[in-house]
Amino acid sequence: MKRLRIGLLAAVALSFFIGQWFSLSISGKAPDGKKLLRDMAPDLNFGQKSGMPLHYESEGYIAFNSYDLVPSIRGYAGPIKLLVLMDRESFIRGIKIIEHRETKNYVHFMESPEYIAKLIGKHPAEPFQQGMDIDAISRATVSVDALAKTLKESSRLAASGVLGINVKDVARAGAFDIRPFVYGVFFIVSLAVYFVTRKTAKYQVARDISLAMGIAILGIYLSSPFSVLHLFSIVLGGFSSSALFYALIISVALSVIAAGRFYCGWVCPFGALCEFVGRLPVRKWEVSKNMDEKWRLFKYIILGLVAALVLISGRLDYGNYEVYVTLFSFHGSFLSWVLVFLMLAANLKVKRFWCRYLCPVAALTGLISREDSGYVSINNCPMGNPTNPHISECIRCNRCYKTGKS
Ligand code: SF4
Repeated sequence: MKRLRIGLLAAVALSFFIGQWFSLSISGKAPDGKKLLRDMAPDLNFGQKSGMPLHYESEGYIAFNSYDLVPSIRGYAGPIKLLVLMDRESFIRGIKIIEHRETKNYVHFMESPEYIAKLIGKHPAEPFQQGMDIDAISRATVSVDALAKTLKESSRLAASGVLGINVKDVARAGAFDIRPFVYGVFFIVSLAVYFVTRKTAKYQVARDISLAMGIAILGIYLSSPFSVLHLFSIVLGGFSSSALFYALIISVALSVIAAGRFYCGWVCPFGALCEFVGRLPVRKWEVSKNMDEKWRLFKYIILGLVAALVLISGRLDYGNYEVYVTLFSFHGSFLSWVLVFLMLAANLKVKRFWCRYLCPVAALTGLISREDSGYVSINNCPMGNPTNPHISECIRCNRCYKTGKS
């Protein structure tokens, strides 16, 4: 394991430096705003970008790049850059998404003409909130909120700074976000229950309740299971305005230090589904210890390859192979849904198949899990671990903590 850790760390560092060198050598190719404006409004003739705040002028209209006005507003993985066309009364007349790094599954509808059409004609004094002044055609994800906030705040600044119209701020899009608190409370309570119940007979029922809540809260309500893309995003400098983004990273990092792969065993919504499917009374395949050990290495190899691909290319979407993104975003290609089905069905024959052999989060958290002599023996392990397992493969279900309770 030590050699694996060093090897992967070296591969990640090398990929990062190659990626930085590569991006420096091709930098300077920012999108041509005037060309995009010509495509958006072919009848209008805009001059060069100028003024303070930076904007384009045409008769009856102005246009601006939202990033010039509100660079600090970010989605899940960085700014969502918009080209906005506005009339002289500060009504929005055109929008084009120039660039973003959000996970495609969560933002596909954001780029659809139907969604953009719902924002055209809006005024920055309106709230810009789904279900209020914007028809909810999608789930209100962090990315969607960030787009609305970027549009509202940049329009408000352009209206006052360029057109001299002082826009009364009725409500700020996405200003009050209860989601990080919901997740934070859930995570802290689960972690406390993990410690409190691990020497008692209640550990199993406590964990089942936590897993069910993981599906409900992190999977369905927040639609944001932890992903290795969170980490890659930070390494690539794509910082987020979302408190949920940091809550996920910090909670997983701290829990790995305190309790190894606690996230996998108590919180992860896809791990929970895999485990519940695996408990169905279907006769399991016997995987020999030798084969099992070899196959478990597969997830580390995939993690290394994906890390190299993402860090060299600078493209987060290249690392998007976590099947649960399809499941919890309720969006994906036919092939990705087949994959979700297969990964769930595989648990009928091999317990926690995805977590054991493929999951990049399992590999990442396993790599940094510390030894804990409390976990000593085995009895019907939900991970199919053999006696005295590597701590990197233990999801802290507590079944074999100290005394081997079941
Ligand atoms: S090794 Fe023990 S605590 Fe870890 S997952 Fe298996 S049974 Fe649970």
